[in-house]
Amino acid sequence: MERMTTLSPILKQATPVVVDHARGSWIHGTDGQDYLDFTTGIGVTSTGHCHPRVVEAAREQVGKIIHAQYTTVMHQPLLQLTEMLGEVLPAGLDSVFYANSGSEAVEAAIRLARMATGRPNIVVFQGGFHGRTVAAASLTTAGTRFSAGFSPLMSGVHMAPFPYAYRYGWDQATAVEFALRELDYLFQTRTSPADTAAFLIEPVLGDGGYLPTPPAFLEGLRERADRHGIQLIFDEVQAGVGRTGRFWGHEHSAATPDIIITAKGIASGFPISAIAAPSATMAKAWPGSQGGTYGGNAVSAAAAVATLEVIQEEGLVENSRVRGDQLQAGLKEIQARFPAIGNVRGLGLMQGIEFTASDGTPDPTTAAAVQQATTGQGLLTLTCGPAGNVVRLIPALVVTEEEIALGLERFEAALAVVTG
Ligand code: PMP
Repeated sequence: MERMTTLSPILKQATPVVVDHARGSWIHGTDGQDYLDFTTGIGVTSTGHCHPRVVEAAREQVGKIIHAQYTTVMHQPLLQLTEMLGEVLPAGLDSVFYANSGSEAVEAAIRLARMATGRPNIVVFQGGFHGRTVAAASLTTAGTRFSAGFSPLMSGVHMAPFPYAYRYGWDQATAVEFALRELDYLFQTRTSPADTAAFLIEPVLGDGGYLPTPPAFLEGLRERADRHGIQLIFDEVQAGVGRTGRFWGHEHSAATPDIIITAKGIASGFPISAIAAPSATMAKAWPGSQGGTYGGNAVSAAAAVATLEVIQEEGLVENSRVRGDQLQAGLKEIQARFPAIGNVRGLGLMQGIEFTASDGTPDPTTAAAVQQATTGQGLLTLTCGPAGNVVRLIPALVVTEEEIALGLERFEAALAVVTG
């Protein structure tokens, strides 16, 4: 009998595309088609695919040392990256710990917050996505699909409402007031502040629906964190590194974190993640309490250094803001022509299009059909949201005015196919 090995169906494919090669905002498939990539490997290839500077930095590093194991011997790219991060990290967050993935960094942040406060509980916000390891999945409330079937999850996690104004049918101020009131109520009913180590929140909900967190909400969390000695952790894995038109997503508010988490866009596709906190906080974790064989890999760190240089030299944070405004304005024009679109929102190059039925309820069927149809138009997109009714657009930070215009054209063509 012939034996055949296949990829596990656990991997749910969003498109049938197989890549031959990719450059900038474009993926060239083995089918001979060119696809405008508004997915960037889920917000990872920040400087575009195979930016020559990133490719060169990685190539050069491969010839020097690939793996040095950072607890055995230190390597130069990680020292250089740490110095460069100092220029962009929020004031006071002067100590950095490296891992490989967003999930690992989330776990590191949670462990640090628990060790630093001596408290057990973590408060997360409805719709948040923080990763897929068991601990990270325990903190994720962006959909039951991320945790169903493999309970029990990690204990000590409590969920508070997120100010989702559009879904509640409220204005933003009312939604923020409600969510903060519910948080205070959670303190009275489930986890007292004295038992609460941290708030964990994304400045823009990612997999939970591409929803910017209202600045007043982040500021309300900051005020409560200060009042109760709770660590405020910003998960900037998807919203950070220029994605929202500011270097960090939280910079759209006045709130600053006690611990910040970064990954994805920091190295243009090479696996590396980091958390940063004040040295005094990091000193509360005993040496060896965190780590890993591959953490802070030399080639990834070299790619991260090149990525930060490219972002700075090519003005990519500003490009993200300007091209993001262009994208959102175009989407709002399209919304006026397609009643299936209930809401368009986002910051910078992180834009969500929420599909709703005529009664205002989520419409995942249309969202999925549109996402599929964009591939046929030569545009790669993804869905997100607890109900799966949001199409998200995540172009590379190097995206041009012409590419955004073309993306909008192709998106509208896909809508026309689906809605007839
Ligand atoms: N946090 C956020 C906000 C994310 O978007 C993700 C990935 N989508 C993660 C954490 C987990 O990162 P990773 O997949 O690298 O483990």
